[in-house]
Amino acid sequence: MLSFWFNIPLWQRVIGALILGIITGFLWGPEAESIKWIGDFFIKSIKMLVVPLIFFSLVSGIVAIGDLRKLGRVGGRTILMFVVTGQIAVWLGIALAAIIQPGAGVDTSAIQKGITPVPNDASAVDLILSIVPESPVQVMADANVLPLIVFAMLIAIGILMAKKDGEPLIKIFDSGAIVMQKVTMIIMELTPFGVFALMAWVSGALGLDALQSLAILVGLNYLGCLIIILVIYSAMIKFLARLPVGDFFRGIVDAMAVGYSTASSSATLPVTLRCTQRNLGVSQSVSSFVVSLGSTINMDGTAMYLGLATLFGAQLFGIDLTWGDYVMISITATLGSIGAAGIPGTGLIMMALVFGSVGVPLETIAFIAGVDRIMDMMRTATNVTGDSAVAVTVAVMTDEIDVKEMVSADDV
Ligand code: ASP
Repeated sequence: MLSFWFNIPLWQRVIGALILGIITGFLWGPEAESIKWIGDFFIKSIKMLVVPLIFFSLVSGIVAIGDLRKLGRVGGRTILMFVVTGQIAVWLGIALAAIIQPGAGVDTSAIQKGITPVPNDASAVDLILSIVPESPVQVMADANVLPLIVFAMLIAIGILMAKKDGEPLIKIFDSGAIVMQKVTMIIMELTPFGVFALMAWVSGALGLDALQSLAILVGLNYLGCLIIILVIYSAMIKFLARLPVGDFFRGIVDAMAVGYSTASSSATLPVTLRCTQRNLGVSQSVSSFVVSLGSTINMDGTAMYLGLATLFGAQLFGIDLTWGDYVMISITATLGSIGAAGIPGTGLIMMALVFGSVGVPLETIAFIAGVDRIMDMMRTATNVTGDSAVAVTVAVMTDEIDVKEMVSADDV
């Protein structure tokens, strides 16, 4: 029985739980609230991961950038492009959600009473002060992510400055990041139960409206990712790299397909590397640096999604966001996409970070979780395409590409 359960891929179990939860909610009505505690258990477990996951993966990620010095010019341009495309992506997500309003019009009053509002009363000065971690331990205890990220960055810089003396800590953080990925996998096993209970509760209390808004959210996620791929990446290849866009996509299509089906940038990494080197002609050193680093820190699909989902949650629960909040979302979503590991579902976990920064209830995560996988697949295909697009552009800028290889990509 147990092996039968685990033989079904997690995402299929989650979608099954989503459908069953919705049916149960419709049949059971508002009474379904009696199983909401199972969903709360799941949300609490996700929250538990945020601090250690960000801390370990951010420090180990930044320490890995320490190799930047070796790669000099390549590193600077790569990071700049990662950050610029990430910012464009978040703002695209924010714009799509602000225009289409996928979460508006759903009457959530029936579920509001079960929700703990997150306080959100920071002014600009408070915001600046709040990123300084007065006590790192306090910051961790409160799961206050922005100062935590600042602290993690400082630790990483300190480790790099300490050179040989910092090496034992590099090992600890690298291994901590791997361990946290495993712990994340364990917690993700709770997803079907959490999704079932929360969907039953939500659909029992809200009815069809809620489902319609989820369908619009999925549609917007696909639209946003397509805009990133077809407009932003195409423009990068055409105007910055000055190469034929069609050949780029023909060369990278394998990685896109593997990214889409595995929903993991890390699992796709070998394929992305092969496509970037063999089909697109990028040199070994530039492709391995840019694509490996990109698979963990460059996630434009995820960044767009975080912007989109945060506004969705705010609309759902009637929270008014200011321009200051949007800026906050753009910062935390970019950091979240950097901190997210390239494995399935991490975008969902990073939502806790972004939501917390602007006061959107974490229950939104549970609301979205059932349809996350379908969106995750598209985000990941976008993420891996972005890694290759940056690799090609940087390679052209630094003369590390064999263009003949790329143009003849159709015979690979
Ligand atoms: N699964 C995505 C990736 O590996 C991350 C995410 O959940 O958005 O790229």
